[in-house]
Amino acid sequence: MTVITNHMPTAELQALDAAHHMHPFTANGELSQKGARIITRADGVHLTDSEGNRILDAMAGLWCVNIGYGRDELAEVAARQMRELPYYNTFFQTTHVPAIALAAKIAELAPGDLNNVFFAGSGSEANDTNIRMVRHYWALKGKPAKTVIISRKNAYHGSSVGSGSLGGMSGMHAQGGLPIPDIHHINQPHWWSEGGDMPPEDFGLQRARELEEAILEFGEDRIAAFIAEPVQGAGGVIVPPDSYWPEIQRICDKYEILLIADEVICGFGRTGNWFGSETLNIRPDIMTIAKGLSSGYAPIGGSIVSDEVASVIAGDEFNHGYTYSGHPVAAAVALENLRIMEEENILGHVRDVAAPYLKEKWEALADHPLVGEARIAGMMGSIALTPNKETRAVFAAEAGTVGYICRERCFANNLVMRHVGDRMIISPPLVITPAEIDVMIERASKSLDECYAELK
Ligand code: PLP
Repeated sequence: MTVITNHMPTAELQALDAAHHMHPFTANGELSQKGARIITRADGVHLTDSEGNRILDAMAGLWCVNIGYGRDELAEVAARQMRELPYYNTFFQTTHVPAIALAAKIAELAPGDLNNVFFAGSGSEANDTNIRMVRHYWALKGKPAKTVIISRKNAYHGSSVGSGSLGGMSGMHAQGGLPIPDIHHINQPHWWSEGGDMPPEDFGLQRARELEEAILEFGEDRIAAFIAEPVQGAGGVIVPPDSYWPEIQRICDKYEILLIADEVICGFGRTGNWFGSETLNIRPDIMTIAKGLSSGYAPIGGSIVSDEVASVIAGDEFNHGYTYSGHPVAAAVALENLRIMEEENILGHVRDVAAPYLKEKWEALADHPLVGEARIAGMMGSIALTPNKETRAVFAAEAGTVGYICRERCFANNLVMRHVGDRMIISPPLVITPAEIDVMIERASKSLDECYAELK
């Protein structure tokens, strides 16, 4: 058998990859012509590929490597835990120390009465948990007709059948029979592309009030929950107008609708607090977590649940769970990640150093002729590419073509910056330094210049 290693030529690895490996969110047929980029190692905020390029990762992997790559402590904790107890489950009145310790730590960090954690292996699984949990909650409260969950168009809440249905991505709904019944999508608070002539704050209110309209249309006795990210990430880092969340909160309170904040991206420091809900002053009943919980070093997610919801759920057997719910190795790694974040005051670094510096540099990109708006929320940012800043016009080419050109330029300039349609987005490791931010911005500007020249 051929042993496949980092030392094989890139083309050979790419050919094997194209022949056998089906990639997520990829036109796999294209991989045989244009092989995948092969990442071989990483440290700090940098990746190294099989050609020896050192690439600044402005996406922290997939929004997850919050403490940066190459932290030996996490590897050591994982090895220790694997030797001591590599696996045991948490079903049927059984538990283990890593799951106990991590649940207790999350309860300590989470705001308000969010003191209860149901573990999953990923954000998608956690959102599937949420669908079942909120419906079961209302059934136990004697209101079994409350099954409808309201979400938003262009939201991303995961890729499983349940979480993909919660999400509002039309491209996903077009495949595989999504959404499942009783999920309803209202419009997103995306002022730049949908706000027209309205002032942003009026637009924010209008979009929030679509929640109230939907509740009234279905009838209050049908609605189980509303789910949203504090700041939409995969939709294009869409920072809502300030008027949006207070109005959503008012409506959820008025109609007693459970509020689920999907903190998979916003959680664990990305907006400068432990949770985006704190930054945006949201009081959720449930929060979805994953990604930054372990800084991506081990797959783990979960739902943080209020005392009120958890106490109702506790009244019956909840027939739900995953083999890897609270996996001991993933839990131990997550706990160590949180320990490092606290010990090294990574939130302080975000608030006092990285986020203010990034904001200044990122917002200056709005002066580039190709950039319509530059938005930032803590350590997540986006820029809209446009042929006309004043009218907020879109490009004549198919949406995403210009964004794709720009992304390819970034790659060529050793920068990972993602595109969502014609919007470029970043979400760098939280530990990034001002000097590294300078390099990131320099490469982003160069890529924008090249993209602009190519369009002329
Ligand atoms: N929720 C949000 C907001 C996400 O951004 C993601 C992934 O990007 C998910 C849920 C799904 O998480 P996972 O990919 O771990 O299943």
